[in-house]
Amino acid sequence: MKLESKQQNLKDLNTFKLNSFTDYFFVVRNFEDLKFITSTLGDYKDIFILGGGSNVILPECIESLVIKVNFSGIRMISDFGNDVLIEAYAGEFWHNFVIHCLNMGWYGLENLAFIPGTVGAAPVQNIGAYGIEFSNYCYSIIAWDLLKGEIVEILARECFFAYRNSIFKQKTYKNFIILSVRVILSKIWNPNLEYFKINDYSTRKSLEDSKNINNLIEAIFDIRRSKLPNIKEFGNVGSFFKNPIISEESFLNALHFFPDLVFWEQRKDAYKLSAGWLIDNCGWRGKNYGSVAVYEKNALILLNQGLAKFDDVIGLAALIINDVYNKSGIKLEIEPLVYY
Ligand SMILES: Cc1cc2nc3c(=O)[nH]c(=O)nc-3n(C[C@H](O)[C@H](O)[C@H](O)COP(=O)(O)OP(=O)(O)OC[C@H]3O[C@@H](n4cnc5c(N)ncnc54)[C@H](O)[C@@H]3O)c2cc1C
Repeated sequence: MKLESKQQNLKDLNTFKLNSFTDYFFVVRNFEDLKFITSTLGDYKDIFILGGGSNVILPECIESLVIKVNFSGIRMISDFGNDVLIEAYAGEFWHNFVIHCLNMGWYGLENLAFIPGTVGAAPVQNIGAYGIEFSNYCYSIIAWDLLKGEIVEILARECFFAYRNSIFKQKTYKNFIILSVRVILSKIWNPNLEYFKINDYSTRKSLEDSKNINNLIEAIFDIRRSKLPNIKEFGNVGSFFKNPIISEESFLNALHFFPDLVFWEQRKDAYKLSAGWLIDNCGWRGKNYGSVAVYEKNALILLNQGLAKFDDVIGLAALIINDVYNKSGIKLEIEPLVYY
């Protein structure tokens, strides 16, 4: 059996809203579908796994077979007393998973509420927000090895999670379709409010009573709304650049150019800089290139003003990267996956 070629536009399946045509698109619903893909791998130039499309920049034409995983469900695997081991399937919306856990009294993921996209993509860039990352709670990942045609369990320590990074971004792991994630959560409500305190959000009324889950979720919603454009109004992928983590030598060099540089000391000889601050201070806030703009309220975000094309997005990103490098010696890295 062969997949029938049928052209499809992925514009509504990526949050930057780029036109992107593919001839082969397949929704995986069960194990038979996984086996089918493995048995027909040779028919396609490549495979591309698409989740909610909120962290990808897609070209006008994709020659790969595009796969979407529709496995759904959330279940408790084990109850250890104070902790629980929970499994969520790849096709679930991440935010819905977070809220479901809170409703069940399984705590830990709350600061990651409202991150768009699917559960299956969360480990790929080790999503993070407000002082926590997916990796803080990950126990293991269940994936389908497309080449071997078998299910594998990859333990958290084998994922080499780092800031917006994991093995799933490496070429050798491109053949692993993430089917579900397993996380260890706590039955004790003990929210991590460090980020909010450091960044002066603790004075917000809704955070005064941190014991109230709804107040925290509301505060996160407000903070995100004030910094992020609505994807329904303007196509975007959230932060377009990673915050650079640099050595002391590069840090001192950058300080020479920008004495008031915003940074967070990570550990000895490692400094994290604010990419948004650098872009803003190099004069890019609000600038346009083709139909793509740097968001007025947050220079870390690129916006589709309606008719953006892949080349506009990459062109503007390249101009920003070069300019920031020339003015600070810091090389910015793009955060979303750019499909070439
Ligand atoms: C407004 C906005 C705000 C955001 N805020 C944050 C934030 O606070 N923190 C943060 O970390 N990110 C944030 N993001 C980025 C994005 O939401 C996350 O990276 C999210 O995890 C992407 O999920 P997705 O399902 O849309 O993945 P996609 O964009 O579809 O895919 C992303 C990558 O994961 C791979 N992938 C997807 N599903 C699977 C699977 N089942 N198996 C294997 N590989 C897979 C894809 O091939 C691709 O490489 C934001 C994005 C937007 C638009």
